[in-house]
Amino acid sequence: MAAKPEIITIANQKGGVGKTTTVANLAASLADKGKLILVIDCDYQANVTSLLCGDQQLKHKEKSFTHAIKHDLTVDKVVVPTPFKNIDLVASNRELDDLREQLAGQPNQFRLVDLMLDCKQARNYDYILIDTHPSLDCFFQSAIAASKHYIIPLFPEADSSRGLAHQLQAVNKVKRYLNPNLNFLGCVITKYDRYNATHQKFETLIRHFGKENDIPVFKANIPSSHSIAAAAAHNLPLYHYKRESPASLAYAKIAKEIMNLAAAQDGGRKKNSVRKKSSREFLEIAAEL
Ligand code: ATP
Ligand code: MG
Repeated sequence: MAAKPEIITIANQKGGVGKTTTVANLAASLADKGKLILVIDCDYQANVTSLLCGDQQLKHKEKSFTHAIKHDLTVDKVVVPTPFKNIDLVASNRELDDLREQLAGQPNQFRLVDLMLDCKQARNYDYILIDTHPSLDCFFQSAIAASKHYIIPLFPEADSSRGLAHQLQAVNKVKRYLNPNLNFLGCVITKYDRYNATHQKFETLIRHFGKENDIPVFKANIPSSHSIAAAAAHNLPLYHYKRESPASLAYAKIAKEIMNLAAAQDGGRKKNSVRKKSSREFLEIAAEL
């Protein structure tokens, strides 16, 4: 059994690759397996907040990641339940974007998530899934610094595949300095159309690149599905809209892979722990990102 909580950041600086959809549907699948889940929305677009709790949640400013950062609060002060069993949320809102500049140059900007999770309630969750903005902003870096694992969703087309190497480089810089024990759980190929020759070609390339460079890729691809947008329009993860749809079943398979991988990699890491550098040390290299 893996040590609680398993903190997983879902990241890709490329927009629209399925980060938020992956967070919501993995949360739903893991929750369905009886796991207690916290979703943290670190993206000022607040898409996973709207998906799980509706737009009205955006008005509750005091219950948000933004409010926690501004007032140095821990997760227990800002967490909200969602309509879905076993899933709680730390919501986001547009104001998070304004905080970015104010935080620039402060050593703590890379430990925001870490500090927020420093309380008893955080330790009760089995999995904490962090949704990030498509950039390398300080919230992304803070999420990576606080996580045990990360996942990169990408779709099987030229731009996305080219971006993978850059994304890995960016994560590795944060990892090297702030979180040497961070594990890469793998790439998730999203919006996959198995009848599309370009998708077939890029899936093969991604898997080949993965093998050559020791980069894991989840076995299941997430098929392209109109139901994902339809589910989002109803403020539902696909899992709660069309549970038996191919995309939903693919997310359930990945959730199972994650449970196995997280437990296995957790064991390996304990034997091999490395000192994190301080946020102040990291400030010196952050400008390169
Ligand atoms: P951003 O970078 O803006 O945060 P994102 O990476 O979080 O975007 P999503 O919001 O999850 O991406 O998805 C982008 C769009 O693609 C949404 O309209 C979503 O409904 C759609 N989408 C996601 N996954 C799939 C899929 N498997 N099949 C079809 N459409 C999908
Ligand atoms: Mg998103």
